[in-house]
Amino acid sequence: MTNSIYSCMKCGTCTGACPSGRVVAFRTRKIVEDHCNGEIDLGDESLWYCTTCYNCMERCPRHIDITDDILGLREQAYRAGKALSPHLKVLGYLHKTGHAVPINEKVADKRASLGLSRLPPTTHSYEDALEEVRRILEGEGVSGE
Ligand code: SF4
Ligand code: SF4
Repeated sequence: MTNSIYSCMKCGTCTGACPSGRVVAFRTRKIVEDHCNGEIDLGDESLWYCTTCYNCMERCPRHIDITDDILGLREQAYRAGKALSPHLKVLGYLHKTGHAVPINEKVADKRASLGLSRLPPTTHSYEDALEEVRRILEGEGVSGE
């Protein structure tokens, strides 16, 4: 069972469990609190520092879907034109190739050396599957531009 962000008791366990918070100015508990108070700034870059590791969700004593909430905020930020450029670049790869991390020549060579096909049986091999991925993305307003 999961609970709404409004059941947060501000214990800070999520912040303590967050690997990003150790290296950048990112405080998970503060994001939850700001969201509860209607004070989220969609232009706040720290929204994009979450690695989606789910550590916080696993440890939250109130069983709040913290990571999913952050992802929801990111979606709002994206729709408001406030996504960070590295994330937009990944989205561009996804639209272009169907992969967030497309295969390169080095990896293709490695596959061949292992007796595998140079390309994996994904959108890299199936143009119709790539078209389907693009249709889904474009349905969500992602043009790949
Ligand atoms: S761990 Fe859960 S209850 Fe504790 S501060 Fe974070 S969101 Fe709130
Ligand atoms: S999912 Fe995001 S906010 Fe939660 S612990 Fe991992 S990096 Fe931190």
